[in-house]
Amino acid sequence: MIVHTPAELAAARGALSGTVALVPTMGALHEGHRSLIRAAREIADHVVVSVFVNPLQFGEKADLDRYPRTLEADAAICAEEGVALVFAPSAADMYPREPVVTVSAGEMGTVVEGASRPGHFDGVLTVVTKLFGLVRPDSALFGQKDAQQLAVIRRLSEDLNLGVRIVACPTVREADGLALSSRNRFLSPDERVTAVALSRALFAGRDAVELGPAGVLAAAGAVLDAAAKAEPPLDRDYLVLADSVTFSPVTAGHSGPAVLAVAARVGETRLIDNLPLEF
Ligand code: AMP
Repeated sequence: MIVHTPAELAAARGALSGTVALVPTMGALHEGHRSLIRAAREIADHVVVSVFVNPLQFGEKADLDRYPRTLEADAAICAEEGVALVFAPSAADMYPREPVVTVSAGEMGTVVEGASRPGHFDGVLTVVTKLFGLVRPDSALFGQKDAQQLAVIRRLSEDLNLGVRIVACPTVREADGLALSSRNRFLSPDERVTAVALSRALFAGRDAVELGPAGVLAAAGAVLDAAAKAEPPLDRDYLVLADSVTFSPVTAGHSGPAVLAVAARVGETRLIDNLPLEF
């Protein structure tokens, strides 16, 4: 069943008895989203999928306008996967007026991906808080693909005592390693060839883990440098090793878990990827 307004959602949600797991998405669903929905079905009686391209988390209006919207296909995938409710509100349904109160990710929202996209994580946390309030889920599932988003949402639920269990799901990849993303559809065949360098760089970094943080960054960086000379070229935004909890950069002598994170533009398309590593 698909509902659009908060009032429709409240009525349909009220009719669900037992536990509810929420899978928040921006639509254009792919196998990565499907894996979240399947994991959600394992842990709850009912699954709610939200499909909302949240204007608050987009810096550039052009990026927001260009974001793919495929609600009919998304609803069909949800039906196939046994989703109880699809919540697909309009921007006016979610923000009938300019919000006065929003949620801030603090320091964590200003580093790594947040340094490239000011305000992005505040927008994410604000919409996720609203979705938690609307859906009142027992648990919510998020992909490791967006590792910093996962980390700030864990802090959201803990710091504000929202009582929602946050569940992480592994990144689903194409056979050659490229992480699935709704933005991959924008890549031309040539750009798609260049884009595989993101995951190759991460795997090269992982293979160098015995060399420590500097060795990992050098190995991954070499792959990105080579791709920068490809045609079409890869334009690196960042390659960082970050603490998996705070997302601040790790230092040379770091031991324990860390996330190797990369962002790059290929043509007009900005892609991100990451791998959790253990030092
Ligand atoms: P999005 O629609 O891009 O906002 O993503 C919705 C959810 O799906 C987020 O929790 C993402 O981290 C997750 N997701 C996106 N791509 C993948 C992927 N390739 N593998 C696993 N989860 C993903």
